Amino acid sequence: MAFDRFGRNINYLRISLTDRCNLRCVYCMPEDMTFRPRSELLQDDELARLVRLFSGLGFHKFRLTGGEPTVRANVVQLVATMAATPGVEKLAMTTNGLLLDRLAQPLADAGLQRVNISIDTLDPHKFKKLTRWGEVEDVWRGIRAAEAAGLEIKLNAVVVRNYNDGEDVVDLARLTLYQPWQVRFIEMMPFGDVADFQLSGVVTQAELQETIAGALGELRPVNQGVLDGEASLFQLDGAPGKIGFISSISQPFCASCNRARLTADGRLRLCLLREKEVDLMTPLRAGATDEELEAIIKKGIWWKPWGHGLAQDVIPLNRVMSEIGG
Ligand code: SAM
Ligand code: SF4
Repeated sequence: MAFDRFGRNINYLRISLTDRCNLRCVYCMPEDMTFRPRSELLQDDELARLVRLFSGLGFHKFRLTGGEPTVRANVVQLVATMAATPGVEKLAMTTNGLLLDRLAQPLADAGLQRVNISIDTLDPHKFKKLTRWGEVEDVWRGIRAAEAAGLEIKLNAVVVRNYNDGEDVVDLARLTLYQPWQVRFIEMMPFGDVADFQLSGVVTQAELQETIAGALGELRPVNQGVLDGEASLFQLDGAPGKIGFISSISQPFCASCNRARLTADGRLRLCLLREKEVDLMTPLRAGATDEELEAIIKKGIWWKPWGHGLAQDVIPLNRVMSEIGG
């Protein structure tokens, strides 16, 4: 098992399959984003090897993200390989859903269990403004395909002031009255070139709760407020679904953090909001043995930072969100 020096057992790896994306969400990357050459990204066999090593170190939950994981070539085969790796118990994906229409069933057949699908508003015009060129109807098609394929579904919405902080939030929360889904609102976090925009547009959990309760009635805490992963969960009266808040800015959950991230270019990122990374790509390509790579991973995990430094104005500038994998 892999522990950090604060006694946290780190057993959840989020893997960015690519830095590329078929959208350009305003809170995630600049419109003129440049991407890395494919040769600089972890290749399929390198990814499969790292997943095997991480699972050998006690990691049992893996989430594929990006960029947009579904634009990675061979994504279905990659999922099948990872799902068949001994020790991999939970395999999930975070996606914008655009390609799920044709990929949901093959991914489910390959062993994917859950999808978190990003949908920040139900309004087609605002969706286009937030994503710069997306069609919300394509996401709906993806959600329906995921449902038909039997994948467990959560919906993610990042809330941005003056874009989707009003009736959009209420419309999304209302879905939980009819669907057994978790709809989760994410506080926008600051990264790289987009940090000023992000910091000026944050909408906090407290404000969101007030907006939702004002329109739809009381939000009752689920599980006495104990976090579900990183989300605090609530329910509307009589609702089959749940409303979650992921509030890294106003209510950080660093004490219970059990995750590490693998960037598409093969760096072990120890905290989403800290620049510290451990290079796995160089030793991997230089012919390191499994034992040598395991030792590098374990040492990196040991030095995982305690928490982020946003309260002290320490903002990660070296990468934007899509390069790390949210
Ligand atoms: N492309 C996929 C998607 O959008 O779901 C996966 C990658 S995306 C980087 C992962 C998650 O991060 C998404 O839910 C997205 O909304 C969220 N995200 C992106 N930029 C963010 C930011 N600045 N603050 C908080 N969440 C962000
Ligand atoms: Fe692409 Fe996801 Fe970033 Fe939007 S949030 S630009 S869909 S990686």
